Amino acid sequence: MPSLNYRGRFAPSPTGPLHLGSMLAAFGSWLLARHARGQWLVRIEDVDPPREVPGAAELQLATLAAFGLHADQPVQYQSRRHTLYQTASARLLAKGKAFHCHCSRADLASQHGIHRHCAASQQRAQPAIRLRVADGSHVTFNDALQGQVAQDVDRDVGDFVLLRADGCWAYQLAVVVDDAEQRISHVVRGADLVDSTPRQILLQQALGVPTPHYLHLPLLLGSDGHKLSKSLAAMPVDAGAPLPVLRWLWAALGQAPAALDASVTVAELLQHAVTAFDPGSLQKESRIVAGSPPG
Ligand code: GLU
Repeated sequence: MPSLNYRGRFAPSPTGPLHLGSMLAAFGSWLLARHARGQWLVRIEDVDPPREVPGAAELQLATLAAFGLHADQPVQYQSRRHTLYQTASARLLAKGKAFHCHCSRADLASQHGIHRHCAASQQRAQPAIRLRVADGSHVTFNDALQGQVAQDVDRDVGDFVLLRADGCWAYQLAVVVDDAEQRISHVVRGADLVDSTPRQILLQQALGVPTPHYLHLPLLLGSDGHKLSKSLAAMPVDAGAPLPVLRWLWAALGQAPAALDASVTVAELLQHAVTAFDPGSLQKESRIVAGSPPG
């Protein structure tokens, strides 16, 4: 019986092929959703054209298919959802929770790049929109793996951007609007995004939408115990050889390798993985030591 209470998702930005770090988020979020007998959705986060690589979204979806990770609903594209972001930002502006901001990077240099009050030296034709972060705003949340996470958003982040001055919707706004609109109950993603979560919680509160459960997966560490080097973590996975990559990711998720030993096809491996998956074996700290990457 599928659970109506669990809706997870994987939300890659099409900035290149899926790499080990993004596949860990894909496989980890898929396993947790399947374990909960919930749904798993895929959303392409293509709201930042300057960073996007043509053809990357199609390549990412083909890789997910080669790895047997199929979404339970049609894939959504943020580039087709601008009206939702427009409506949300208009609501925040109307309620005085967001404001137009003409500050440039240089204007904010004296505030260390953190916007706490406007210091614009000139009016821009197209201002940014920022969320007004209240003085002393401090957010604490309970991450299912990382434990309690706290951030002083006012001091460390300040009023943050929802619409950039170049007209692109900011990740923070798009992700919050979409997670709410798609009724995502459980956000499972890379530990590199843990710092964004307090901002997203403030935005959820400002919009009056529910806060999902969060689980930030372990950071990938090399066998020397250090964070995988950028180039290694960014190494594209080989869609032509999914089995060794899935086995490697499985071990990186703290799961017992022997559970997958007998699998000879992707379908078989995924079936064994869902049966054997133990969320309690995920490493508590954002530090795991994974063996050498496959390939
Ligand atoms: N699109 C983001 C990324 O690829 C992930 C968003 C999320 O999972 O919240 O880094």
